[in-house]
Amino acid sequence: MATAVYQGVDGAYSQLVAQEYLQSAGLEAATLGVATYREIATALAGQRADVGVVPVENAIVGTVRDGVDLLAEFSLRPVAEVLMHTDHHLLGVAGASLGDVREVLAHPLVIAECGKFLASLPQARAIPCEDTGVAAREVARRGSTSIAALAPQAAARAYGLIELASHCSDDPRTYSRFLVVRAGEPSVPSGDAPRKTSLIFTLADAPGALARCLTHFGDAGTNVSKLESKPRLGHGTDHTFYCDLDGDVSEPRVAAALDALRKDARSVTVIGSYDAHVGAPIGSIAQSVVLHVDHVVQQRRQKAVLPATAVSASHPRVARATKPEGTVVQVGDVRFGDGEFVIIAGPCAVESREQIIEAALGVKARGATMLRGGAFKPRTSPYAFQGLGWEGVALLAEAGRAAGLPTVSEVMTIDQVDRMAAQVSMLQVGARNMQNFDLLKAVGRSGHPVLLKRGLSATIDEVMSAAEYIMSEGNPNVVLCERGIRTFETATRNTLDLSAVPVLRERTHLPVIVDPSHGVGVRRWVRPMCRAIKAVGAHGLIVEVHPNPAEAKSDKEQAQTFDDLSAIVGDLLGMPLDHSATEVPA
Ligand code: PEP
Ligand code: MN
Repeated sequence: MATAVYQGVDGAYSQLVAQEYLQSAGLEAATLGVATYREIATALAGQRADVGVVPVENAIVGTVRDGVDLLAEFSLRPVAEVLMHTDHHLLGVAGASLGDVREVLAHPLVIAECGKFLASLPQARAIPCEDTGVAAREVARRGSTSIAALAPQAAARAYGLIELASHCSDDPRTYSRFLVVRAGEPSVPSGDAPRKTSLIFTLADAPGALARCLTHFGDAGTNVSKLESKPRLGHGTDHTFYCDLDGDVSEPRVAAALDALRKDARSVTVIGSYDAHVGAPIGSIAQSVVLHVDHVVQQRRQKAVLPATAVSASHPRVARATKPEGTVVQVGDVRFGDGEFVIIAGPCAVESREQIIEAALGVKARGATMLRGGAFKPRTSPYAFQGLGWEGVALLAEAGRAAGLPTVSEVMTIDQVDRMAAQVSMLQVGARNMQNFDLLKAVGRSGHPVLLKRGLSATIDEVMSAAEYIMSEGNPNVVLCERGIRTFETATRNTLDLSAVPVLRERTHLPVIVDPSHGVGVRRWVRPMCRAIKAVGAHGLIVEVHPNPAEAKSDKEQAQTFDDLSAIVGDLLGMPLDHSATEVPA
């Protein structure tokens, strides 16, 4: 039995490192959490623990100076270096959702590592905490849905918390470097692991001073793997350098370089030599050999970790890596994202019972699989036809039943959501409302399938954030729709951004369809775009079709006739689905 002391409570990264290290050394592990770094030193000095674990560097933030300074001050001897992938998750109490969170407790390093994710939660304030375990424990203790912690998955298990968001660091490859230390004599090489040496030196602020020191290492053939400076307070403009070298102080070439350095530097503190970490950080997917930890156990863990690419901190639910196999959204018997090409057709607006029933039967007969029809119309002019409102919704539902087609219609306000969801199969959030965040949350709470259209001037990233709002309320049934964006071009109504399709299919697991009608705005240009939409790998399209376009009360210039729809469906029948767009780069 060996005891490892670390700063923090159960669930801290340092504790995970301590457990990994002791297990890899074949020792039964006990861990002892203490409140401060200094107590690590006193626990070792008082023989209450055999080894200590101290963080010394983070891949995003840089040197953990408190950690390195502790080793120097107490002459703690490093034994081995451990790199651990720091995969932060936002943890909350059962029943909480991302939208509720107002305070995020986390270690200051973790706050720095998750800057982009935290910026995506503008309603939440980040509050620094001693360590990740304390943050998670505090969330559990306070029991409020408005408080969450950034911590490893192990902390969720330790404190009975649930994951509100996953993989929250700015870069999913991030890791921290820890040194396993003990009190007493310097460590000697324990096996064939390569050795590393850490030191701190201070230099006069003079031209060539740093270059001269580094030359000694170069001349000795020793690689400098880390160099970071900070001002040396109280010593004019002098600087202190945190430095790591490859090699062991007992090697003549390293010893010679250090002797030469001592002549040029104002001071040199050699912290010690230790076994270097071999392979990828613990817990990361590219891992090969980690200390002497059992390979099979490691490989099992590997499978559970998401691919490092394409995990987006601001889109934890929407990102492709969260569900690499893709999402299927079922609406009636239509399945978006499941190898079928969905054709939604129907008028811009429901205008009368006759019109919508004729449209429904007409599009169904020509191969459409779903019926569209607006009842609440977002019109640019307040004097233009605004739609039939609830009467239109009831007529659309009746027409859908008559033709045997599921239906989709736009909701414009929060109070329309539940009543609309009770009558139509899918709720459309229109382009103008794509960033109406309260509406997004309301359709999210409804759990009903949502067709989310891209805003007129929304970036792909913003579309994904809008979908994230819906999903963060627990609704996974989101289909994205490219419908043209505003550019300088005036020949077409909008510029249909078909490049958004492969980009979205790579970045998100949600199905993606395209609306060519609002994209180009001109009847005869819709058909060629439909061919392009299928070719580019979309899961379907939504097209405006009117029994008599000349009499349409809205968007008559872009409406297709029934014959146009027959031609479109004919074009598409012979075209294969393009699955290549789903390939995510390794
Ligand atoms: C519509 O589909 O009827 C509509 C108004 O589309 P958008 O929100 O894309 O303009
Ligand atoms: Mn329209």
